[in-house]
Amino acid sequence: MLTPGPGATELEYELLVDSDTQSAQGHTQWFYFAIRNGQFCGTVHFRILNLRKKKSLYQQGLQPFVFSRKKHRTWESNCCQGVYYGKKEKGLRDLSGSEARGDVMLQWSYRVDRKEDEIYFAAYPPYSYSMMSSFISSLEQDAVARCHFRRRELCRSIGQLPVPLLVVSEGLNEKEGEQLPKYAVVITARQHPGEVVGSWAVQGLLRFLLGPTPAAKCLREEFVFHVIPMVNVDGVVHGNSRCTLAGVDPNRVWHDPNPILHPVVFALKNHMRSLSQGLSSVKGIEMFLDLHGHSAKFGCFFYGSNPSAHISNAVFPKLCSLISTDIDFETPKVAEAEECSSTGAEKSEAGNPLQGLLTGVKEERNFPNSKKKITVKLEKLHKRLKDKKEAWHQFEENKLEEEIQAV
Ligand SMILES: [Zn+2]
Repeated sequence: MLTPGPGATELEYELLVDSDTQSAQGHTQWFYFAIRNGQFCGTVHFRILNLRKKKSLYQQGLQPFVFSRKKHRTWESNCCQGVYYGKKEKGLRDLSGSEARGDVMLQWSYRVDRKEDEIYFAAYPPYSYSMMSSFISSLEQDAVARCHFRRRELCRSIGQLPVPLLVVSEGLNEKEGEQLPKYAVVITARQHPGEVVGSWAVQGLLRFLLGPTPAAKCLREEFVFHVIPMVNVDGVVHGNSRCTLAGVDPNRVWHDPNPILHPVVFALKNHMRSLSQGLSSVKGIEMFLDLHGHSAKFGCFFYGSNPSAHISNAVFPKLCSLISTDIDFETPKVAEAEECSSTGAEKSEAGNPLQGLLTGVKEERNFPNSKKKITVKLEKLHKRLKDKKEAWHQFEENKLEEEIQAV
């Protein structure tokens, strides 16, 4: 509740974001809070003092998302003023008088012009565990969708929350026992709770896959989809940015997940191992798509999982670029090679830890409100390009075309 003095037309608030649960590294990125203004109308200035990432799309046009009960009644992304993200003044102290942790701050202003309003601010329109559960329930009520999928429980999280696994295949619930072995496509999202875009993407993807279109029917007939819409359920419930309840980034434990400390990744890896070995009436894994959100890069792009993998790793991103006018299969740039590999993401995520199981693809979406430019980038392409840019490019493009012709 805002508590202005009499006649005030401006208010200023300093905010501190809680670190991820049990996290020694103090991840602070995700935020979601609300204000009630009572009788106050005027401008409110917010300043989050303890952020850590040096680069952000806030520096390139991204704004906090706002939901006003009285004004917008939907999430809006362009209604703040004076958005600044960057180094904070040296020695800046929070309201308690302590020097605020973190080097970076985000500040913005918002004009409140309706009395008795309730206004929410978030890094991105939230997508909670309850929303996921409701969405799955709605699919179970849908006359078309419910014929083609089954909800299973992959495992329980540390916090004892069920982690849903949706198995999607044509006529799965009508013709049980008549299903021919198919290749599996494994899709995961929300390893990192603050990357909410992954949930919105997987929701749209499930709507499409379980819908009535000929394309969806064809895909259901050809493949069986194993979708884990929310990997880090505890992190989502506790409002974390990256970590689980144990303070661990799940995307950094794929090499050797512990069944007690990392139960979801442990169960997920075992599940994928059983699929890759042809158990459960599955011939193997055709593709692994791991959905993330990126806070500092424009567009929508892919990381190939393994620099030494076959060029077929690039086929799916290339096909995406061919069927969508929004997607540009951007040729790699030498300067980006180090940038790409230094994220650490490719080294520790869906690549080497799954070697022998599959070749995977990781999709990153930027947070919206940035330039509408969608790119496809593959680590493999970056690395090979380093020495022989033109010759290599022609060679790989030709090979890629051959692969696509074969699809
Ligand atoms: Zn991520």
